[in-house]
Amino acid sequence: MSLDATSVSPVLRFAPTPNGALHLGHAYSALCNQRLADETRGRLLLRIEDLDRTRCKPAYEAAILDDLNWLGLRFDGSRRRQSEHAEDYAGALARLEARGLVYPCFCSRAEVARAAIGRDPDGAPLYAGRCRALPAVEKRARLARGDKAAWRLDIGRAIALASARIVWLEYGEGTAPEARAADPATWGDVVLRGRDLAASYHLAVTIDDALQGVTDVVRGRDLLAATSVHRLLQDLLGLPAPRYRHHRLVVDAGGDKLSKSRNSPSLAGLRAQGVTAADVRRALGFPGEGAPAIAVTLSRFLLS
Ligand code: GLU
Repeated sequence: MSLDATSVSPVLRFAPTPNGALHLGHAYSALCNQRLADETRGRLLLRIEDLDRTRCKPAYEAAILDDLNWLGLRFDGSRRRQSEHAEDYAGALARLEARGLVYPCFCSRAEVARAAIGRDPDGAPLYAGRCRALPAVEKRARLARGDKAAWRLDIGRAIALASARIVWLEYGEGTAPEARAADPATWGDVVLRGRDLAASYHLAVTIDDALQGVTDVVRGRDLLAATSVHRLLQDLLGLPAPRYRHHRLVVDAGGDKLSKSRNSPSLAGLRAQGVTAADVRRALGFPGEGAPAIAVTLSRFLLS
């Protein structure tokens, strides 16, 4: 894949969430990152997205490192662990707050669901915006007395204050970019900081990509829609826009994408059955060495 000769040296990242074991979908993503880094003489960083302290465990992180090492992945620089950088996210949130773009939301999950005005691109209930209209004195009083709050982006105001047309360059798995128009309104008043989280995925990933100087975001198509929110936040915070390369997902024989919740076979499980890293690479379309060990085990997975 060629890059503009004038561009800075590419920086890529693989950003797993240590809330379970890696599966073939993660392997594909990591290998796509590695391939682009190799082809462009870029740097590949590892970021551990461990903000959800109830679901993320050090043991999962250790297992992820083992899996990546087994697959032959090599990372540059030191590992960034999101749980160690809450102040970066708080700083960004404060900047948005100073412009009146975020507000505390005291609604419980059940209240949000009951009053939902539709679904966001992830299928979660779309928030009706009740707390957006709370009088400032009430917000202050509730925060002062310690009521738990999530912080939401006032999407209407944010879109009104942002550039008129926000686009990103989408490369998919190819070399020719296509300009995609961001459509952040579909997310409604998205959460930027959860009740018990230093930052939501959207805020953390946007800030980290900027702080780590990421030029190329290589990740699964399941995160394509989220890019609209990331581009909006970049625009509001004056952050550079990386190139985006959303790749195909690994699906099982039934056409469903692999996931931790579906109990998809983990890389560690495949390894225990005798599958080699070369088998995994070959099955996912990357050059592998040696004869297949248990190719049959992997033939029921496809890219889609
Ligand atoms: N941590 C996310 C995941 O494991 C990936 C985030 C990203 O690549 O933007 O799905």
